[in-house]
Amino acid sequence: MARAGRARPGAGVLTPASASYAGPMVAVKVTVDVQGRAVAADKVADATVRSALTKMGREIGQKLSKVACPEHAKGPTDVRVHVSLSGDADLKYESCCEKLRGEVSRALG
Ligand SMILES: [Zn+2]
Repeated sequence: MARAGRARPGAGVLTPASASYAGPMVAVKVTVDVQGRAVAADKVADATVRSALTKMGREIGQKLSKVACPEHAKGPTDVRVHVSLSGDADLKYESCCEKLRGEVSRALG
């Protein structure tokens, strides 16, 4: 049952080879829990974990780049994802209002 202490973020979220997207990107800052510290995705020592995290951030950014508030025509800003040891991703971002939050959760759902 226990997964031996290894971060496996985004399992089931990652889709292979979706590299053809060419629209504007939303920058997503990904951090991961390493022994109780938040470490930036590009600072992770394990290359497999690092590329999985980077990819996850890119894919979330792609999804969010299509999201805009129906009222204010703004997208989410200051997007951050923190991945816990168990691999759960916690998304945080700034939004203009509740309607945008609804659009974001629909886009990522
Ligand atoms: Zn709004």
